[in-house]
Formats: sequence, structure tokens, C-alpha cells
Amino acid sequence: MTVTARFAPSPTGYLHIGNARTALLNWLFAKQTGGRFILRLDDTDLERSRPEYAEAIIADLAWLRIEPDVIVHQSERRALHDAAAEALRAGDRLYACYETPDELDRKRKRQRARGLPPVYDRAARDLTGAERAALQADGRRPHWRFLLEDRDVAWEDLCRGPQHYAAGALSDPVLIRADGSYLYTLPSVVDDADLGVTHIIRGEDHVTNTAVQVELFEALGQTVPVFAHHNLLTAVGGEGLSKRTGALSLRSLRDAGYEPMAVASLAVLIGSPEAVQPVASLEELAARIDLARLSRAPAAFDPAELDGLNHRLVADLPYDAVCDRLVAMGIAPGPVGAAFWAAVRGNLAHVSDASGWWQRVTGPLPGDAERPADEDRAFLADAADLLPAGDWAVDDETIYADWIAAVKAATGRKGRGLFKPLRIALTGAGEGPELKALLPLIGRDAAIRRLTGRA
Ligand code: GLU
Repeated sequence: MTVTARFAPSPTGYLHIGNARTALLNWLFAKQTGGRFILRLDDTDLERSRPEYAEAIIADLAWLRIEPDVIVHQSERRALHDAAAEALRAGDRLYACYETPDELDRKRKRQRARGLPPVYDRAARDLTGAERAALQADGRRPHWRFLLEDRDVAWEDLCRGPQHYAAGALSDPVLIRADGSYLYTLPSVVDDADLGVTHIIRGEDHVTNTAVQVELFEALGQTVPVFAHHNLLTAVGGEGLSKRTGALSLRSLRDAGYEPMAVASLAVLIGSPEAVQPVASLEELAARIDLARLSRAPAAFDPAELDGLNHRLVADLPYDAVCDRLVAMGIAPGPVGAAFWAAVRGNLAHVSDASGWWQRVTGPLPGDAERPADEDRAFLADAADLLPAGDWAVDDETIYADWIAAVKAATGRKGRGLFKPLRIALTGAGEGPELKALLPLIGRDAAIRRLTGRA
């Protein structure tokens, strides 16, 4: 059996980090097992679904390096949904109901007042032909409910272990609205069956849907897929994430300059037993993930943790991985760019911060640069005289070592008193990448100008 997993967002907003977790868990599971990954756009809600959100979802997944094997739009599969509804009607598993939302509300209130669970009483099944005709003549259009069997529905959940749900305690779910449109439940089952989905990995907010959907798969004579319900991500304050608010959207994280693998590492490993670490590729992440070992408790997504991961990931990025981006920022290509990257990558929150250091290396120093103290002027001028002569190779760290040894010997300075003024004069900042790597990039002429206060 080839594993077929799917991610099924409704295109009603931008994907957030919690959606990314679901998408990635499906994609990684498919990769781990040599299977297929389908992107199914659940766009049957015509009012809220937008083509631009569908495009944004595809683009955001591509940013995470998720390229679906197949992309389907549910709205184009209506004929299949209609055929399934017809089959359910023929088997007396789909029945017409005429209650208005108000009437249903009153029923539920009466049940609660009598201490009963607010489960739909199936009154519509007892309507006579004449009553039905009268309601229709009155202008009422039916909505359609799926007749649940009064039994325990059980499944072996890849995340949660053995599960069972008393379907008898649920209301028969409405599958088709009075305007003829489908709610999510039936099209999801029909499409999963038609597309050969073998594994449904989704958030644990869908557990109740699963009880209903297992019955639907069976009523339609289809094989029931394997289910896995993972824990949900929340914001730091514990509140749920929503596609509609745009908070923690993949877009906003991308625009803020985070690396896709930092986002993916956190979205997947958050709440896992091992410490969250930046992982360099989805393939490596696939090797680590085990659905059975995901945390069962909701996990809070902490942007500060993402900052830390991004910093660590950037510090390990090889030049090849960032070369194009650096060149686009105006940073020299080739050996100079490579030496520059090696010098600064450990000091960046985001790759884009490299451009600030490039300016400090190539000059002029920014207007807000720190200036050396007056009492260090003479020391700095002496140090300038001691700079090694000749052409400096951009990656030659002996230049700095030789220079520092000479300055130490000539001036008697050491420690902070030696290094700090040199750093401030050369870079305009009290902290930053190692000077031994920056000095050859700054070059002899510019170093002399900066040390002698002429730049
Ligand atoms: N469109 C549904 C959602 O976004 C899909 C749920 C599922 O994976 O079946 O919640």
C-alpha cells in the first residue's frame, strides 16, 4: 500500500504556524514512508473561500519547500459529492429535516431544562408525507442529516492510541444545508476515498468529526483510513490561532525574515520530547518525527524561541545557501562574499542583517557609529603604523594575529584596553563578529583611515 497523506485547508485566510504543523506532519509522514502528499483546498464555502487565499496557501507551502504531488479543489468535485449523497439517501442514511435554527434552539433549551443532552431527536423522520408536503408548500427547504448508528466507533489513532467514541451521544450531523451547499463532513470523506487517502493527520479539534466520518466511510462502502490527531498549537497566552486574524501567519514570519527551516523545525518539534533544535532540511526532520511521540498537551508557540532557532540556523548556513540573497543585497560575490559570510553569520538574527555588517566592512561607517574615546587616539595612531604591509588576502587571519602581537609589544596594552578601542575604531561598534575575520575584509587603507580618525 502506498501511503497517501493530505493537507486540507479551507482557503479562507493565510496559513498560520499551527496549520504549518499539520501540513508538515502530513508531508513528513508521506516522505518517511515513500508516499504521496495531496493538497486539497476545501473551498465549498463559497462565501468565505477566496482564490487569492488558495494561491497564498500554495505559495506559503512552497516557501516551506512543500511541493504537493497533487492539488485538488473541492468545489470542482461536486458531482462526486452529489452521487455520494444520493447513495446515502437510497440507503436511508440521509434524511430531510425542516426545523429552522430557532426551532432547533428551542428544542435544545427544552432538553437542557429537563436535564437531557441536547441531541437532535430525529423528529423529522416521523413526518408524514402530508406534513412534508405542507412544509414544502410553506416555502421550507430541507437540510439533510446523516443517520448515525447507535454504537461505539473505535479507531487506532497514530498519535493518541486506541480511541472510541459513543456515536449515539451525538446529534445526527447536517451534511447538506437548506441552500443545497455541503458542510465540510461529506465532501471530505468522499474526496479522501476517491483520492485514495490512506492516512488522515489533522488537529485534535477534529476527533468528534472522526467518529462521524468513520461511519460515513463505512456507509459509503469505503475503506476507513488511518487517523492521527495531533495536539494543537496556541499563542503564548494560550489562545487559539486563527487563519482569519493573520497572527503568526507564515506570510508574516516570512516577511519578518525568518528562515523557512527555522519555522518548520519549531512547528514540528515543539512539544516533542527532545529539545527543539534547528534542523537544516525537511529530509532530516522527516527522519526525526514520530507521531506516537508528539506531546498530547497543547503547545504554545513562543516567538522568542523562533528567534533563537533562527539565529542558530543562520550561523550554520553555508555560503552556497545564501549567496544569491547576499548578492541581491549588494554584497560582493565570490571569495570576498564567502569570507564575509564566514565572518558575520554567527552574529545575525536574520540573514538580512548581513547588509548592516557589509556597510560596516566596506564603509562609510553609519552615522550612528560609535566613536573611539579621545584618550585612545594616540594609541590608535600607533596601532595604525603597525598594520602589516603588503596585500591582504580576504581570509588570511594571520594578519590580525601578527598585528595584535606587534601592538601589544609596542604599547604594553592588553585585554579590554587593547581590543575594545581597536574594535570601535575599525567597525564603529563595541561588539560584533571576530576582528580577525573582519580586518582583512576592511582592508589596509580603510583600516588606517579609521584608526587615525580620517574616516
Ligand atoms: N478543511 C478542514 C479544516 O481546515 C479539513 C479538516 C481535515 O483535515 O479533514 O479544518
